[in-house]
Amino acid sequence: MAYGLSKSKLQAFLQCPKRLWLQVHRPELGKLAGASAAAIQHGDRVGEAVRALFPNGRLIDAIDPIEALLDTQLVMAFHTDRPLFEATFEHDKVLIRADALVPEQGKYCLVEVKASTRIKDYHLSDCAIQAWVCRQSGLSLSRVELAHVNSGFVYPGGGDYRGLLRHVDLTGVIEPLTSRVPGWIETARATLEDGEPAIGPNAQCHTPYDCPFLAHCAEAAGLPEESEFPLRLLPHPGKLKAELEAEGYRDLREVPPERLTQSKHRRIQRVALSGEAELDPAAAAALSEHGYPRYYLDFESIQFAVPCWAGTRPYQQLVFQWSCHVEDSPGELRQLEFLDGSGDDPRRPFAEALIAAAGKRGPIFVYNIGFERSCVNRLAESFPNLSAPLLAIAGRMVDLLPLARNHYYHPAMDGSWSIKSVLPTLAPDLDYQTLPVQHGAMAQEAYAELIAPGTAPERRAELRRNLLAYCRLDTLAMVRLTWHLEGRAGAPSPSGTGLG
Ligand code: SF4
Repeated sequence: MAYGLSKSKLQAFLQCPKRLWLQVHRPELGKLAGASAAAIQHGDRVGEAVRALFPNGRLIDAIDPIEALLDTQLVMAFHTDRPLFEATFEHDKVLIRADALVPEQGKYCLVEVKASTRIKDYHLSDCAIQAWVCRQSGLSLSRVELAHVNSGFVYPGGGDYRGLLRHVDLTGVIEPLTSRVPGWIETARATLEDGEPAIGPNAQCHTPYDCPFLAHCAEAAGLPEESEFPLRLLPHPGKLKAELEAEGYRDLREVPPERLTQSKHRRIQRVALSGEAELDPAAAAALSEHGYPRYYLDFESIQFAVPCWAGTRPYQQLVFQWSCHVEDSPGELRQLEFLDGSGDDPRRPFAEALIAAAGKRGPIFVYNIGFERSCVNRLAESFPNLSAPLLAIAGRMVDLLPLARNHYYHPAMDGSWSIKSVLPTLAPDLDYQTLPVQHGAMAQEAYAELIAPGTAPERRAELRRNLLAYCRLDTLAMVRLTWHLEGRAGAPSPSGTGLG
């Protein structure tokens, strides 16, 4: 029996024959990466934008492959002048769905659409497989194009997406690959008919995608388990990590202390040996330079492959929410926040509300200054009449991350100073795990659903509550971190935190 194949199965085979084998014979061993929800959403939106460019196009939307094949044949027989989307073809039991087929000069231009902003190597084999199956099915192709997102496109509004995609003619480039497709098919089938390939984890496991079978293959290869305190716990080690590994060190506790010259590295080693958290009093000294009121600020942002607001570009970082805890005097907290769920461009109201909240003086604590400062600087560029107060806010920002990294470590942080890793070690009463939105990617998904036109009002209200609770906890976490670094005891009362 010849195994049925598809473009994605052949791509899995090209990444690693074992990946295809596992995908077909042992799919239950795979663990899908969580990041793909956003990627799928980007791909869908780009597909919709392409279809909008060809209003007389016909979408083959049947899910069942046989139905899709029949629909494709019918439409092509009776509407030779109409572009087709998701047209379905099969040859030698290899099934493909073409993103777009555009009639030209009595033939068809095959367009493979990608949400990325540049051509990647695996796109070429993608196009080659599509073109081979189309041609073998009897279709005359005038050209093969790859249409990828043009990062320089600025959306003028009004649903006008002309220029969003950059079309690149790959007809000549993929020709040598097209002739290799029959060989790929034959070898892929031979792989499937045989036992599990004896392939161990290597560079192919992450290129072009993270393989979902990594855990299975690592276990099967009997890779040594990581020590309890591996060398990766050392932040910014430069060449040191490779040197220590070359000398046979695997566990930080075994490294001679004199090999660690950075104080933060020595602290991590001491913590590994003692099992006790360490806090350097220098953190409190550094924080004592900052008076009151103190502001603790955090932003949430989103990127769209297909811009939805006039004047924005593909994948531009767009802020939509902030939370700010204000500590007017030691321990006296109030919480302010902004979230625009209207579906309109939130940036200007975001900036205006931020300016109103941030007052004129006092440090503005952020965690990892690069993100918040660059967001504010971009807002200042976009809204010149708000530029002065926005730049003043950027100038008042103080980064808590290096303070934490240089002066605090707890064994449970496992080498990470992300606020989500730090918080449980100093404020176990605050827990992201109890929230419906627990990290930035979830916040982006929730926001996308919040502003989607079809979202019901009750669901919107729920999403709004969830987003506000998440961002609020981010800034409360910064308050608690600061107090911990200063050696101040006590948790803020619920009435002052915004969590009550
Ligand atoms: S984890 Fe690596 S070796 Fe295993 S199937 Fe995937 S790509 Fe192949």
